[in-house]
Amino acid sequence: MCRRDDRFLKEGTHSFFLPQHCISCGRYIALSFGFPLCDDCYEELPFLREPVCTRCGRPLRSGFSLSCPRCRQFPFRFDCARAVTLYAGVMRECLHAFKYSGILSLAPLFVSLLEQYLEEHPFLREVDYLLPVPLHPRRLRERGFNQALLLARPLSLRWRIPLLHREVIRWKETLPQVHLSAKERRKNVLRAFRVVSRFPWQGKSILIIDDILTTRATVDALSAALKDAGCRKVMVLTVASGK
Ligand SMILES: [Zn+2]
Ligand SMILES: [Zn+2]
Repeated sequence: MCRRDDRFLKEGTHSFFLPQHCISCGRYIALSFGFPLCDDCYEELPFLREPVCTRCGRPLRSGFSLSCPRCRQFPFRFDCARAVTLYAGVMRECLHAFKYSGILSLAPLFVSLLEQYLEEHPFLREVDYLLPVPLHPRRLRERGFNQALLLARPLSLRWRIPLLHREVIRWKETLPQVHLSAKERRKNVLRAFRVVSRFPWQGKSILIIDDILTTRATVDALSAALKDAGCRKVMVLTVASGK
């Protein structure tokens, strides 16, 4: 998907991160692409290939149907969701290191993957606004950064799509989703987001940006808040997706 030469050109300006060790295999990286992942481990990234569900982006076993059983039964409130890779293997290690160990020098890796995807799928960037999934203020204080905002800001600058980061708030503190069942996750995030009512939402199209799509319960709750406020179209793009 992302060729070696493209990465080198794009990430050349980040070479001030040298020297560094690969986050996955620990090997010393002599020629960095601007993020701490070696070439061999980069090749191991589990890119998501077609066929995927046209609605939620989950991998499909065969290309005979356009959507997955879940989307045929209970459609999500967003119009479509896509992820660049699976949340597995090297990508799982990278996202974990980024989010929970604060290895922020991995951000250029995720941003370049998202950029490449948006380059290849222009319909996703034909929107009025980009919206990084908001964190609850307490979670933001603990972590010190909103990972979704770090990913969305460079995309906003590159394609000149305005970023919304004060117009939606996460006012209900939700439990970490990791150990919850699908049903518990939906309940956990129900009405977790609130939109600023004076913002002109009517007819707007929005691309939500986040790091991981798991059950899609979080982005579904966020999409519901946006659609209820009058948004016409809500799409989602993340770095990785659960199976
Ligand atoms: Zn490596
Ligand atoms: Zn689906």
